[in-house]
Amino acid sequence: MYPLYQNSTDLNFNDFNLHPDILEGIQSMGYETPTPIQEQAIPVILQGKDLIACAQTGTGKTAAFVLPILSINASTHKESNSLNTLVIVPTRELALQIDQQVEGFAYFSPIGSIAVYGGNDGNNWDRQRAALESGSELVIATPGRLIQHVQMGYVKLDSIEHLILDEADRMLDMGFYEDIMSIIKLLPQKRQTLMFSATMPPKIRQLAKTILHNPTEISLSVSKPAENILQAVYMVENNQKLELLNSLLQGKDYVQSVLVFASTKQEVKNIERKLIGSGISAKAIHSDLEQKERENVLREFRNRKIQILVATDIISRGIDIEDIDLVLNYDVPNDPEDYVHRIGRTARAQSDGVAITFVNRTQKASFDRIEKFLGTPVFKLKNPLNS
Ligand code: AMP
Repeated sequence: MYPLYQNSTDLNFNDFNLHPDILEGIQSMGYETPTPIQEQAIPVILQGKDLIACAQTGTGKTAAFVLPILSINASTHKESNSLNTLVIVPTRELALQIDQQVEGFAYFSPIGSIAVYGGNDGNNWDRQRAALESGSELVIATPGRLIQHVQMGYVKLDSIEHLILDEADRMLDMGFYEDIMSIIKLLPQKRQTLMFSATMPPKIRQLAKTILHNPTEISLSVSKPAENILQAVYMVENNQKLELLNSLLQGKDYVQSVLVFASTKQEVKNIERKLIGSGISAKAIHSDLEQKERENVLREFRNRKIQILVATDIISRGIDIEDIDLVLNYDVPNDPEDYVHRIGRTARAQSDGVAITFVNRTQKASFDRIEKFLGTPVFKLKNPLNS
């Protein structure tokens, strides 16, 4: 599902002049109508233009670039199989998720792809190396791992025709600027560059100026949260948060899936420890876990073996988990878009959901900004620990 935007179009995918192999893939993936970002981005990309697009996860942004790029590649496919398209992403999870979509859409075409990301075993390294050497046409990579492979000397990036930066704002937040620029230096000047970002702060505009050539700009106004999410706030002192969290979660077996967000991995680990200490089945997901461990945690959460997942924003971005009953913001996210993104994890696919946010004194101003953005105050619940 693409929960953040409703379709506003009569177009269907046949109207875009996509390659027949890719149309077959779209059909087999069950997509019928393009989302607004797809409607706007696909024609621009098919024309070979550079693009800067402001769009969040949940808008269908992945298919917005994957479909036209695959279509171009399917039309120009050469048996020599040289690296043709590079997608740079902030996290392994996003790399894997994009690669899965690519595999689905490219199923009826000869195009090969590989996700290149760090933190895994030697087999994976060898597989990535083999794919990079033999020239998978489409490479989806996190910056650090790609640079490691490049430094080994067997990756040739001079045949790249399309470069895509996905979640560019996250990548800059994570400190990947230098890595990205050093990769771009190895690419041909003449190429198509696409940049997707959930937000457009000045540093993103600056990066766009440096690496894009006369880009078309698409900006979808940030959506408001779905109306079927019941939002509420507890005003709390910092030292009350854990106790309140415990009391909200203890013995609530009817709440099947709960996602707890916190801003730092230390906090995430701390919450996990405290919940487990209180006999509540919870697991944390953060960047210190090995890739395999993260995948296991996510699988267990999806299969409902774990009731409560504690996560940071960075990890949560790009992971597609449906049917979450309750989102609990242990702290206030920095910007309103992160708030919308976090609470958009619940109430997907027409079901109802609840989002509760803990707001302490110092975060009051941030939450005021969120309410201003929402255009309505969020219901304040009475803090049971104060009575
Ligand atoms: P994204 O914003 O790319 O992370 O996509 C969010 C979710 O929406 C993913 O699960 C996609 O598979 C799904 N999706 C994207 N575009 C469409 C579409 N046109 N029709 C149906 N599902 C879609």
